[in-house]
Amino acid sequence: MTTVMVVEDEEALALLLKYNLEKEGYEVVIESRGNKVLGQVEKYLPSVILLDWMLPELSGVEICKLIRSKPDIKNIPIIMLTAKGQEEDKIKGLSAGADDYVTKPFSVPELMARVKTNLRRAPVINQVSELVFEDIRMDLVAKKVFRGENYVHLGPTEFRLLKLLMESPGKVFSREVLLKTVWGDNIYVESRTVDVHIRRLRKSLNEFGPDYIRTVRATGYSIDNHLVDEGDEQ
Ligand code: CA
Repeated sequence: MTTVMVVEDEEALALLLKYNLEKEGYEVVIESRGNKVLGQVEKYLPSVILLDWMLPELSGVEICKLIRSKPDIKNIPIIMLTAKGQEEDKIKGLSAGADDYVTKPFSVPELMARVKTNLRRAPVINQVSELVFEDIRMDLVAKKVFRGENYVHLGPTEFRLLKLLMESPGKVFSREVLLKTVWGDNIYVESRTVDVHIRRLRKSLNEFGPDYIRTVRATGYSIDNHLVDEGDEQ
C-alpha cells in the first residue's frame, strides 16, 4: 500500500485531500501540527508528503529542511501546498528541498496528477539499515546491537536511546528531548528516568568496551569518543 502523508491544518482541506487520495487507492495519514510531522514521517515512512506552507508551531519550509536533514527520510518527495503564489516563496520552498510546489486554490485532479508524478520520481526509500559508532554496530533491521563480535543485550528503551544518540554522534541531547523522542509526548515520566535508562545502557555496552556515552553536566547526554570525563551525575 502506498502511503501519502497530508500535512495540513485546515481540516476541511485535509479531509478533501484524504477523500480524493483514498479514492485513488492510497493510504492517507493526516497531520495538522507542525511539531509532530517529523515523528509521524519517521513512523509511517510515506511515499510522498503533501506539505502545507503555513502551519502552527513549525512552518512547512522548516519541516522540509528538517526532513531533508534526516538520512532515513530525506529522499521522500515533498509537494508544498501554499497560498503564496510569489515567485520568491516558490524559490524558498524549492531551495528548502521541496520537489514540487502547488499553489492554493488548486484543482484536485491536477494535484492527484502531481502526486502520481512524484511517486514515479520517488527513489526507493533509502532506509539506513545500520548505524556504526566506533566499535558499536546497531543493526536496525534485526534490532540488535554488537560491540565488535559481542552481542549486546539491550531493552527496547535502551535501544531507542542508543539509536537516537548514534544518529547524531557528538550532539548533546537534553533529558527533555530524550524523554520526548524516546518515550513520546503523551507519557508522563520524570527526567530522572532518563538517567536510570542511560545507566542501564552504559552497563550493557561497557561490558565490551570503553564508555562512549558522555554525561554533560546539567545538560544531558551524547555519544562521542572524546572520552572527556565530566563526571557522572547519577
Ligand atoms: Ca495552513
